[in-house]
Formats: sequence, C-alpha cells, structure tokens
Amino acid sequence: MTPTDEEAAIIALTRDFVDTRVKPRVREFEESDTYPEPFIEEMKQLGFFGLVVPAVYGGIDVGTVAFARITEELARGWMSLAGAIGGHSVISALITQFGTDDQRQRYLPRMATGELRATMALTEPSGGSDLQNVRTFAVRDGDSWVISGSKTWISNAAHSGLFGLLCKTDRSAVPAHRGISVLLVEPGPGLEIGPKIPKLGYRGIEACTVSFDDMRVPAEAVLGGEPDRGWVRMMRGLELGRIQVAARALGVGQAALEAAVSYAQVRESFGKPIWQHQSVGNLIADMATKMRAARLLTLDAAERLDAGVRCDLEAGMAKLFASETAVQVAVDAMRVHGGYGYSRELDVERYFRDAPLMVLGEGTNEIQRNVIAAQIIARDAVNERY
Ligand SMILES: Cc1cc2nc3c(=O)[nH]c(=O)nc-3n(C[C@H](O)[C@H](O)[C@H](O)COP(=O)(O)OP(=O)(O)OC[C@H]3O[C@@H](n4cnc5c(N)ncnc54)[C@H](O)[C@@H]3O)c2cc1C
Repeated sequence: MTPTDEEAAIIALTRDFVDTRVKPRVREFEESDTYPEPFIEEMKQLGFFGLVVPAVYGGIDVGTVAFARITEELARGWMSLAGAIGGHSVISALITQFGTDDQRQRYLPRMATGELRATMALTEPSGGSDLQNVRTFAVRDGDSWVISGSKTWISNAAHSGLFGLLCKTDRSAVPAHRGISVLLVEPGPGLEIGPKIPKLGYRGIEACTVSFDDMRVPAEAVLGGEPDRGWVRMMRGLELGRIQVAARALGVGQAALEAAVSYAQVRESFGKPIWQHQSVGNLIADMATKMRAARLLTLDAAERLDAGVRCDLEAGMAKLFASETAVQVAVDAMRVHGGYGYSRELDVERYFRDAPLMVLGEGTNEIQRNVIAAQIIARDAVNERY
C-alpha cells in the first residue's frame, strides 16, 4: 500500500490544496449552493480529472490506492469536490478499459485535463436500485441509436459534456441484463437537462433530471462498439465507483474526527478538558477505531482492484462500512461539540449533512448488503480471513 514517490507527492499536494485553498473558502460556496468554479479550475490545473486516465492519454498514472487517498483528502476539505471527480473517474475507467481506440482518442485526452467532464447516468425516476429494470431505451435506426427515457439525480449534469448512459438496447433479451448497453452520449438536440434538485448536502454540485426525447446518437456511441454488453462493464466500473464513494466517506469522517479531537481538548467542563470525561473519551476512541477500520477496508479493496482481481465484495464492504461510519462519526462529532455542533457557524453540521449521501450513492447500503451476501455464497467465502 506504500505510494510511489509521485503518488506521495500528489497526495501531499492535495492535502496542501485542501488546507490552504479549500478550507478557508468552502463556506462561501456551500452556504449559497454555488458551483465552485475557482476550485474546479484549480483541480483541472492540478490534474485531478486525469487521475484515472493513463499517462499515454495525458492523465496521471496513479494506482487506485493513491486515487482513494487523494479522494479522501479532497473530501476532508469538501465532499462536493471529491464528488465532482466521482462519476467522471468511473467513465474514464470504463473508456480506458472497454472503449474502442476511437473512443479513447476522442475522449480521454480532454477528460484528463477536465476540459471534457463526464458523468454516469444510471438512476431513473422509477428507481435506482433495480437497474436491470432500466426504462431508457435506445433503438437502432440505420447508423444511429434513437434514445428515449429519462434519468434523475445525475450529478454534474449541467457541467458534463459526456454522459455514460445505461440503457436498454434489446428489450427482448433474457435475462434482462443481457440487453443493456452503455452509450457515450454528448449533449445535443433531444437531450434536456432539468433544474438542479434542491438537496440536504453535497451542495455546490448540481444533480438534475436528464431527459432524452428521441435523441439521435451515432452507432459508434456504444461503449466498446458492442451493444448489449453494458451491464457487466458498468458493474466493473462501479467497483471503482464504490471505492471512490468509500473514500469520500473517509474524508468526511476524518474531518469530523479531527474537529471533535481538537474541540475536546480545548473545551472544558467540571475543571478539565471534556475528552477526560470517560463518555467523551469513549466516543473519540470509537470514532477513531471505526475510521481506521473503514480506511483499511477501503485501501484493501483498492489494492485488489489494482491487482486486477474482482473486488465487488470488497468494494461493497468498504462502501457499506465507510459510509455508515461517516454518518456515525459525524453525529458523534456533533455530540462532542455540544450546542455548537448544531450551529451553522461550525463545519461539523456540514459533515452531518454530507455524510448520508455516501449511504445512498453508487448503490444504497441495502443493495451493498445484497451484493456482499450473494458474493459470500457464490465465492463460498465464509471461511476466508479478510
Ligand atoms: C445527491 C445525489 C447524487 C446522485 N448522483 C447520481 C449520479 O450521478 N448518477 C446516477 O445514476 N445516480 C445518482 N444518484 C442516485 C442514487 O444512486 C440513487 O438514489 C440510489 O441508487 C437509490 O435509488 P432510488 O433513490 O431510486 O431508491 P430506490 O431504488 O427507490 O430505493 C428506495 C429504498 O428501497 C431500498 N431497496 C430497493 N431495492 C431493494 C432491495 N432489493 N433490497 C433491499 N432494499 C432495497 C433502497 O435501499 C432504498 O432504501 C444520486 C443520488 C443523490 C441523492
């Protein structure tokens, strides 16, 4: 898990960016729910949009372990910034791994610089958990696909120039996942982006409904050039996505833990710092222990992905545990802060609003449990020592 010199330098640079640039200004954008243009521009310059793009296409060759640590650092400053590279990174990985040469040449160099930003369009108004029941259809018509349907909760929708769209290309295929494709869709006639959906946290970054009204895209828009193979590919992409979401949870949890630990040393009651009261000390001990366990799970899943081993089980465990930990640690940090934890003047209330997204995103934790249970049985892994 030891980073290379280059990876260590990027992690340190991210830490510095967060501490010196992001933290002093985050509330300015967060409170007004304003798109953080200056931060995004700096992130482009620093290469964050190319972390999952191979160097040969202009990206930076970092492993998934380093990618997770960089994501954690960004989320420690503001989860929204880590979210801004989330779906983009999954689509970068899908194009790198499964794209045709033309697709790689067309998209990856501009994605590496952030000039072109991508997002994942999976969830539909009728539901995001039962993805095989997708109701966005693409019908082949000559040299085109004609797309109809709609997606919702699509992060970064208004700032994306590329949608990795999960859709049905063969309605009669059995079982259902066989007729699903990923189309690489650029905005154009027939695609409409709705207003941003008001939300509890993850502010600054818009999430919108995206509608496709007989939108025509070229036949070559199918990821990898082969229709009906999108399900397995997207599931592979979601292994990275779930590690990224776990790392975002680590960042929020770490920020909450740091705030609690420093407050508990300066706040006094009954003549001593509050951490010396056993109840508060125990809270801090449990928060730190869970954070460490969550980090080890996340880095372990990342290491497996780097080794080219299937890691849906491990990524699911990491995402499940890290996100539940972030929610718990955010509540506990608020508790350590007493009444001030409820104030809009301190960042702990933001951690409390941001943490639950990771419980939902990239498949809810109920779905993670389904995946984990199914994999435990399928791999006959009950006696494995993790
Ligand atoms: C801020 C935000 C940003 C998002 N960004 C994106 C994005 O960029 N791209 C994208 O595609 N999606 C995005 N999503 C959507 C997110 O992935 C979905 O909300 C999530 O997958 C759940 O889908 P749903 O909301 O339709 O809930 P449903 O699928 O309707 O589920 C409702 C409840 O039922 C439970 N449930 C459903 N089926 C089962 C089952 N089989 N077993 C046990 N429990 C079950 C769920 O866990 C949940 O608790 C985003 C969501 C939010 C809130």
